[in-house]
Amino acid sequence: MIIVLKPGATEADIEEVSRRVRDFGFKTHLSRGEVRTIIGIIGDDRAKEQLLALQSLACVESVVRILQPFKLASREAHPDNTQFTVNGVPIGGKQIVVMAGPCSVESREQLMEVATKAKAAGASILRGGAFKPRTSPYAFQGLEEEGLRLLAEARKATGLPVVTEVMEPDKVDVVAEHADILQIGARNVQNFSLLKRVAECGKPVLLKRGMSTSIQEWLLSAEYILAGGNPRVILCERGIRTFETATRFTLDLNAVPVVKKLSHLPIVVDPSHGTGSWEYVAAMARAGLAAGADGLLIEVHGKPEEALSDGQQSLKPDKFRHLMEELRPLAQVLGRSL
Ligand code: PEP
Ligand code: MN
Repeated sequence: MIIVLKPGATEADIEEVSRRVRDFGFKTHLSRGEVRTIIGIIGDDRAKEQLLALQSLACVESVVRILQPFKLASREAHPDNTQFTVNGVPIGGKQIVVMAGPCSVESREQLMEVATKAKAAGASILRGGAFKPRTSPYAFQGLEEEGLRLLAEARKATGLPVVTEVMEPDKVDVVAEHADILQIGARNVQNFSLLKRVAECGKPVLLKRGMSTSIQEWLLSAEYILAGGNPRVILCERGIRTFETATRFTLDLNAVPVVKKLSHLPIVVDPSHGTGSWEYVAAMARAGLAAGADGLLIEVHGKPEEALSDGQQSLKPDKFRHLMEELRPLAQVLGRSL
């Protein structure tokens, strides 16, 4: 349930209502919108009658039962879009965010080249994997801590904030020490102990959709992070498994308007993993923005043919620059900026 306060409710009103809710044995979660403050009630709704009675308080506009299983992630609980900045880069507002970089951090030279060129082309966040979830145990597993150090160096050199994947609860602290956004990969979207741990890390989280995760399950995973006290979640649609084999995954662009309807969280589209082929990345990047995504995640590599992971879906820096030039007027037509 949520309690919607009347516009103009004071700090004392908020504290008074929150205290009453806590006295019934619930936890509260405050969401301050442009005009309204909403108090989310966390816990099972057995004391529903008592909560409904709070409707008679002068500062309360309504007490509403949220029908969706995800509560804090739902748009009912938080009608305005969630917006925040990461080292000054705005996420979830009018400005489109482009996260670009190699699938894996492979060396200082490789990362610096891509970071510098991605920035020059207009990317605002640098991506790069240091801990890699690979299907085969014989495949390159990432440079691990050394990769994190290189990402931090690249941030220093370019000023771009860094997003990188964390795969295990025990590594959250070290990744959070070096990165600005922690990525939860498709394969870990329902690793609930990892979700609980990143909720506590104090850094924004890029939560990828699992390849077999429904939108509801994905939003429930986001709910773990929000309920754990971390409101800065960015969703990432990266393709799902279907019967189609012509592309690596099927990029589910339906998810963009569906998520926008159900949730207030920002959503970005990853056309690189979504298609698995560099040739289709530009088309699906354009489509992602047209569908209403708040940003894109794109793999870029100086020498894709030598990449240690995902070379076949990585754009060369020149192609990435060209794509960014194409996306700028598109963003404008969509009433956004890039
Ligand atoms: C990645 O971003 O390189 C990655 C492994 O993504 P996903 O979890 O979507 O497969
Ligand atoms: Mn990849």
